Amino acid sequence: MTPDIYLDANATSPVLPSALAAAVEAMEGRYGNPSSSHATGLRAKWILDETRLRARRVLGAGPGRVLFTSGATEGIQTAVLSALCAIRERRAAGEAVGELLVYGATEHKAVSEALAHWNRLLGTGLTLQALPVDGDGRHRLDVLRELAPRAAMVCTMAANNETGVISDIDGIAQVLREHGPRAYWMVDCVQALGKLPLDLANTRIDYAPFSGHKLHAPKGIGILYVRDGAPYTPLMIGGGQESGQRSGTENMAGIAAMGAVLAALEEGTTFRGHAELAAMRERVAAALRDAFPGIVFNAPFDLALPTTLNFAVPDLASKDVLDLFDAAGLRVSAGSACSAAKAAPSYVLAAMGLPEWRSAGAVRLSFGPLSDDAFIDAACARIRRCGGALRRHVLDHADGHPGVLQLSSEGRHGWIVFDRRAGQAIVIDPPAPLAGRIAAQLRGQDLRVAAVLGTGADQDGAHARGLLRAALGQDASDPGPLGWPRSSGEALLGDGGRAPALTLGTALLARVDAGEGAALYLLGAAAGAQLPADAVRMVFAGSGVPALHGIARKDVLLCHAADMAGVPFGVASAQEGVRRDDAAAQLAPDALEDFLRRHPDALLVDVREAGETAVGAGTPAGRAALAVPLSRLAEHAAGLLAQPARPLVFFCRSGNRSARAALCLQRLGHAQVFTLVGGLALMR
Ligand code: PLP
Repeated sequence: MTPDIYLDANATSPVLPSALAAAVEAMEGRYGNPSSSHATGLRAKWILDETRLRARRVLGAGPGRVLFTSGATEGIQTAVLSALCAIRERRAAGEAVGELLVYGATEHKAVSEALAHWNRLLGTGLTLQALPVDGDGRHRLDVLRELAPRAAMVCTMAANNETGVISDIDGIAQVLREHGPRAYWMVDCVQALGKLPLDLANTRIDYAPFSGHKLHAPKGIGILYVRDGAPYTPLMIGGGQESGQRSGTENMAGIAAMGAVLAALEEGTTFRGHAELAAMRERVAAALRDAFPGIVFNAPFDLALPTTLNFAVPDLASKDVLDLFDAAGLRVSAGSACSAAKAAPSYVLAAMGLPEWRSAGAVRLSFGPLSDDAFIDAACARIRRCGGALRRHVLDHADGHPGVLQLSSEGRHGWIVFDRRAGQAIVIDPPAPLAGRIAAQLRGQDLRVAAVLGTGADQDGAHARGLLRAALGQDASDPGPLGWPRSSGEALLGDGGRAPALTLGTALLARVDAGEGAALYLLGAAAGAQLPADAVRMVFAGSGVPALHGIARKDVLLCHAADMAGVPFGVASAQEGVRRDDAAAQLAPDALEDFLRRHPDALLVDVREAGETAVGAGTPAGRAALAVPLSRLAEHAAGLLAQPARPLVFFCRSGNRSARAALCLQRLGHAQVFTLVGGLALMR
């Protein structure tokens, strides 16, 4: 398997070796409870005290409180609870407090959710007010100036986790000094630790939460700084630990590890400084530009942490880049939260006013201040390899048959039928959101589009065809019915009828009227100008199941414009015996070797896209696998069905795509279909 190159440091980071050693020592040698008065307890308490002293120095905490929490989310709750309790008391005492809870529009959800939650629970009845950011992702200080006099609390992060954009903390402080002297101020410093200078006691900041796991300490440890004199209400009460400020026996392993990270920060040689990191970012950016011409970066480098690059590639969805990178062992994340069905554009990038394609296609690449030159070199080499793979491998197919590519978006399926030799493609039922991507893909592969066709006479379909034609630089309106070209040949069909037909390499695509303005298209090998029934391999049938004489066979695939019976394609013959609720059998990663021993004839089928397979060495159990990208499954389905007794084991990166492929084949009637649960990610 390809070794990991972990470029998702803003999500979490590996534990520093000295931090790991400190945590182990805290669990083995100094396992005492720091509240115990005996020597074992005192040895643990020493770790607690030392770490707090270090934290004070590193944060510049002065006389402020420094307490250990479970992470930033807890620190944020504590800060919000403290501020809201104080606001409620002051208001009850007749003091004028603001009515707004102002938070930056690009804050981590922990902040806006905590504000809403505690405001509701405490019945404070304040109004949540997002503070907009400008196109660079920085807070609009002009708006803050207007809101500040009415603000009871203001929350503005130090640096953004998605874009790395660094806030103008001095500018915000000045606005608050002049216009919002009564508002409590929280600055989420999670992404600042180790990357930005901190001198908290010399600022107006009231609360500053930190999280250990973002800087090489383990998950489950955080720090909360509270300015001397800022109100404080414990979130957790009980045994009185942390001087009664945060009860619960301390996470000593986490605190010890945090101490080691703080020691490394103080000592100053472990982590790279700003200039070195900025030089590394330049190299990564150059590799990205080489790999993806047309790439845009979603935040200006001069205003962002040098360790975060957020980018989008025209006509590539973030999932495409993520899958490709992951296959190459490059671990990055989408700049947006994705659900399986639909990628929700990032609210952070949307708040910056970026066009939807840039937020929906955003990829975040983040490295840590522990990175060295060799690591960055390796990352750049792999990024370049990914770009090459993407260009080379999109639309390959075996000679003799046209390739058939499925393109799906929001439950709609489109189909590209193409022949590389002939340099031609025909697009059927293109989903509107993919028009730009389809056009770019075909252009990139030098394929001329002979027709953009529809199967149904609906407005949406006509609109989508128009979008694609426009993206291809053609006249947007349908040349003939459902996009059929003005001039075409004719084919003699198996039933003796004649149909308009287009030639694609050695294949024919014939148009058959399906009634009510709809059409379907038969694809098969041409025999001169004839397309006999037994030559038909596929029918693009929109949302219908045609009853065409002679082609209702098991080896003729019906490709639909939306799922039918839960899958994008089916066979033209009746599917007796295949129950809809049948799920393909699941193979656990640790059961695979044994399964393959028991079924030596089993066929491993890699359903990752071609670029992923090209960059990602490795198949499960080191066995040869047949590459059938999920987007090309329809093209290969007949071949897979031709061996009904041979077990098929589908695999992919995570197990999602292989589960879908397995379901398709199972619905097509293959009785021996398996999917590798958890995918290659668990096969290490
Ligand atoms: N704030 C920011 C800016 C973050 O990046 C994160 C982590 O994703 C959090 C808060 C939450 O931190 P934790 O995981 O320690 O609760």
